[in-house]
Amino acid sequence: MCNLVALTMVVPCFNEEDMLPISIPKFIGILQELIDNQLITKDSKILFVDDGSKDKTWNIIQQFHQTHKHVTGLKLSKNFGHQNALLAGLMSIDTDISISIDADLQDDPSVIKKMIEAYYGGAEVVFGVRDDRSSDSFAKRFFAQNYYKVMSRLGVDLIEDHADFRLMSKKALNVLRDFKEVNLFLRGLIPIIGFKTQKIYYARLAREAGETKYNIKKMLELAMNGITSFSVLPLIFIIWIGIFISILSGVMGIWALVVKFFIGGTVEGWTSIVVPMYFLGGVQLFTLGIIGIYISKVYLEVKARPRYIIEDEIK
Ligand code: UDP
Ligand code: MG
Repeated sequence: MCNLVALTMVVPCFNEEDMLPISIPKFIGILQELIDNQLITKDSKILFVDDGSKDKTWNIIQQFHQTHKHVTGLKLSKNFGHQNALLAGLMSIDTDISISIDADLQDDPSVIKKMIEAYYGGAEVVFGVRDDRSSDSFAKRFFAQNYYKVMSRLGVDLIEDHADFRLMSKKALNVLRDFKEVNLFLRGLIPIIGFKTQKIYYARLAREAGETKYNIKKMLELAMNGITSFSVLPLIFIIWIGIFISILSGVMGIWALVVKFFIGGTVEGWTSIVVPMYFLGGVQLFTLGIIGIYISKVYLEVKARPRYIIEDEIK
């Protein structure tokens, strides 16, 4: 190959002291193999992003850097979450291509070679897609499968069973830079940017050490983020409830008037209280829904806080 490119593997790490002594040597081995096979240049590297770990993660990264110059690091000032840590890494690279991969070796690193070949074949973004979820728990599998269904019903363009294991060229990353949103859901954003893409299938492996750093709270937050950052359908749903209640209140109003004038026996004042109550309830929900849509648009625009803060760097 004539024009070799430099690669940075971006690895977000949160409390990964159990995993890193296993995964760093493995990542180094893979990088060396790619260099030896003349797929990438010698100045390729691995960037570990310490997402505010409370354990020895950063020390381990520093130690490996002493003996392996390919190992570099970025330390965030606190835990910003996987998506932001990943973005911090991706935005700081200076090589031609990046590959984002989890620290726990669940994303099969041997797929990286195929990803790079796909890049040389013209793809600007290469998605790693799991075609086997047997290593996930039943609950996680159930949740993930239904989540992709709901998202597609809500009109969000997601690549099913693709998480954040992907290759992105500098060109694609520069476009990503222009997306300023604070509520990050990268796997929803990247299909929006376009370019030539390719999918590579792999079997998701089990975590080799340590526990998942995605507790239920983080998982639900990510899921909600995916919905609210990319779809206004939940707000439109409020409008439909409002319309439904408004119609119902109209029917109730007619019924109340019929009871008053033709059937009789109503308590004095009942009709004049009940009819406006239902009607106003419906109208209120309806207008709240419309206001909600506008607020959600403004909300998405005005949030301009930094998405991550870098404390330290090893180059
Ligand atoms: N991670 C992170 N910040 C967090 C949570 C997770 O950087 O707040 C990293 C974690 O170290 C790992 C990757 O994100 O490299 C995926 O997390 P994990 O493997 O725990 O998630 P799971 O595979 O269970 O979904
Ligand atoms: Mg994992």
